[in-house]
Amino acid sequence: MAVNSQSGAQASLAARLESVKLGLADAAKRAGRSPDDLTLIVVTKFHPASLVSDLAELGVRDVGENRHQEAQLKSAELAELDLRWHFIGQLQTKKARQAAQYAHAIHSIDRERLVDALATADVATPIEAFVQLNLTDDPGRGGAAPAELERIAERVLETPTLRLRGVMAVAPLPEEEEAASAFARLREYSERLRALAPGASDISAGMTHDYVEAIDAGATHLRIGSAITGNRPIAG
Ligand SMILES: *Cc1c(COP(=O)(O)O)cnc(C)c1O
Repeated sequence: MAVNSQSGAQASLAARLESVKLGLADAAKRAGRSPDDLTLIVVTKFHPASLVSDLAELGVRDVGENRHQEAQLKSAELAELDLRWHFIGQLQTKKARQAAQYAHAIHSIDRERLVDALATADVATPIEAFVQLNLTDDPGRGGAAPAELERIAERVLETPTLRLRGVMAVAPLPEEEEAASAFARLREYSERLRALAPGASDISAGMTHDYVEAIDAGATHLRIGSAITGNRPIAG
């Protein structure tokens, strides 16, 4: 039976999506948690808007992007699809107000100046905000030093255009530290944040290779790319 390549690609996308969903549900069960407490964000960076619309057809609502210009173009092209765009990359202060135009959530709040820039954004509903923490000693890795958590969080709490949801992190490289122990520290930071803001209990953590460890440590928002989309095209 002949299958055209378009529907063949869609079928394998559907199969990979299904297999990740099963993986999340399985990890949740083994951690004694409900799969309903997990939000799967499909990271579509470097992939064309057509892949995002294929995902939408498969029922995906939450998509993640890490580059402002790319996210801006894709969200404009797919505006009629009612997707929730999660911004997960480094965000320049001068681009903050533009990102606020399409972002449902920003997972990379890492400094007070960025919060101040977002405070001047024109938004209909507050943007969900995650404070990104750096779990390594390398300041180049992205995210705030954990010592800055409360200061940044307080600033977010004072900002009507933002709604503080929790913490976010990327695991260190596998040779630096086991993901499980890094995510255990992230969970402690989450508890510190909850002492300040009891509602801000979400944890954005877990990617293709470490989502099981993240779910064990309490992650609520999984940011998964390549396991679903296949390998990313080479960045241009
Ligand atoms: C690319 C990216 C992901 C997804 O990575 P995969 O390994 O493809 O699942 C998650 N979080 C951030 C911040 C990313 O940049």
